[in-house]
Amino acid sequence: MRLLIVEDNTELADIVAQRLADVRLASDRTASAEEAQLLIETGDYGAMVLDLGLPDGDGIDLLRWLRETGRDLPVLVMTARSAVADRVAGLRAGADDYLGKPFSSDELIARVEALLRRATGAGAAPWTCGRMTFDRHTRSVLIDGRALPLPPREAQLIDLLLRHRDRVVRRTQIEALFFGFGEDFSSNAIEVGVHRLRRRLDEADAGVEIVTVRGLGYLLRQRAAAE
Ligand code: CA
Repeated sequence: MRLLIVEDNTELADIVAQRLADVRLASDRTASAEEAQLLIETGDYGAMVLDLGLPDGDGIDLLRWLRETGRDLPVLVMTARSAVADRVAGLRAGADDYLGKPFSSDELIARVEALLRRATGAGAAPWTCGRMTFDRHTRSVLIDGRALPLPPREAQLIDLLLRHRDRVVRRTQIEALFFGFGEDFSSNAIEVGVHRLRRRLDEADAGVEIVTVRGLGYLLRQRAAAE
């Protein structure tokens, strides 16, 4: 799962990204409200950490757009505007949590983790397909209850496919997952990742298949029972 950091203070964005990486959460960064909108439209983010004072707009407007377009992406707002009226405005516009600057990075991480737990935790339907289940607490794949060890990229890929099981996951979504925004990538990296993942799932007898949807992307579904 990737997170999106929208913050124009490069130093602070670096610290946030590093602290998220410490708890194994990959992130993309942008300093622009417009670019954030583009990234959200094309990417698949688990949560967003949002600064309100951005050079090309107000984070509050980005939040409003997010909610008006029906996106339930969890958002933690971090801003120097910590007066009660500002907190209320942020929460009303659709923020899930609010952190006034300056803050401790420990508190930021704890709040992001709490946000992710709420978004994916108790009450939500379990992510299962075939004999496979995704354990949201350990972020690992279980086959018949036993953990299937996967390298980071394949683990991220199965996480994405399983969350969208029976629906097509577009190549652009996988690109956004594999490669940080603006990073170079080789065009066959996705094929290689999918190929390896297929082999592992077959070896583990996961009872699922990754179907190639030509020109679009991939889809995970339960394998039809053999005659
Ligand atoms: Ca700012």
